[in-house]
Amino acid sequence: MADLKSGRIVEWHRLSPSLSLFRLVAVDGSQFPSYQAGQYIALRRDDCLLTRKVKEGNEVRFVPDLDAEGRQKRGPVTHSYSISSAPFETTQGNHLEFYVVLERGRDGVLGRFTESLFRGVEDHKNDRLAFLERIVGDFTLARRAAGFQHVLMVGTGTGLAPFVSMIKQLHFEAQQGTAPPARYTLLHANRTWEELAYHRDLLEIEKAKSFDFVYVPSVSRPAARLRPGEQPAPSHLWPACEGTGRFGARAAP
Ligand SMILES: Cc1cc2nc3c(=O)[nH]c(=O)nc-3n(C[C@H](O)[C@H](O)[C@H](O)COP(=O)(O)OP(=O)(O)OC[C@H]3O[C@@H](n4cnc5c(N)ncnc54)[C@H](O)[C@@H]3O)c2cc1C
Repeated sequence: MADLKSGRIVEWHRLSPSLSLFRLVAVDGSQFPSYQAGQYIALRRDDCLLTRKVKEGNEVRFVPDLDAEGRQKRGPVTHSYSISSAPFETTQGNHLEFYVVLERGRDGVLGRFTESLFRGVEDHKNDRLAFLERIVGDFTLARRAAGFQHVLMVGTGTGLAPFVSMIKQLHFEAQQGTAPPARYTLLHANRTWEELAYHRDLLEIEKAKSFDFVYVPSVSRPAARLRPGEQPAPSHLWPACEGTGRFGARAAP
């Protein structure tokens, strides 16, 4: 069993009310285990608002778990999170980075772990975050795309996390002289522009042309960023793929 270690959130960047990027360091300053882009780690909070399962006919719901006084019980919850930093960034900065969404159930009940994570972190009242000292997962380029000539990555929302780690690492290695032979295309879809995490970094990597990479961002609510009087573009997909030979036609609106 891996050790549970004490960590601290050192940077918290809120993209929207329900989406954030943050960085984690070990409280004792120790290094994280080495990892490959695409892997994940288990994070734990101890003050999570607990829920319990309710079965009504065939339907299962999770509702607040209340004590005798009617207060919601608190306790530990541990969940896995993909690492969005690249391995070289962790070596250089001794931190891990994550891209997380505040979970909201059908009944509006907030997720146990993420409610705790998003609570009080901005005023540093709640920035402790434990982690299991083990990084695992086989969603890596070596395991999933070895020998491929074309690699298409599709990430919606925080599903971008493992891909952005891979792309940043490929860019770093290409700059060191080992450009990958394959062509990489990354599609990232989210609701608004503000929620497209790593947008500028990915545009920069694409522009640098250190390896064969095309970045295709897409938002489903483009009007959220329009100035008064402006019309939304006919397609939600940026025309980034035009002229690259990656796609035959632009995506439909
Ligand atoms: C490999 C991996 C990588 C991941 N990477 C990311 C990432 O990069 N970013 C990210 O935001 N998320 C990621 N996740 C999802 C993350 O692990 C959590 O599932 C998510 O954040 C919701 O956690 P929560 O505690 O807030 O919600 P929960 O409280 O766990 O609620 C989530 C769902 O679980 C059910 N549930 C609620 N209460 C209970 C209960 N008491 N017992 C059992 N089930 C219950 C409900 O169906 C609810 O809709 C990843 C998951 C995996 C497996």
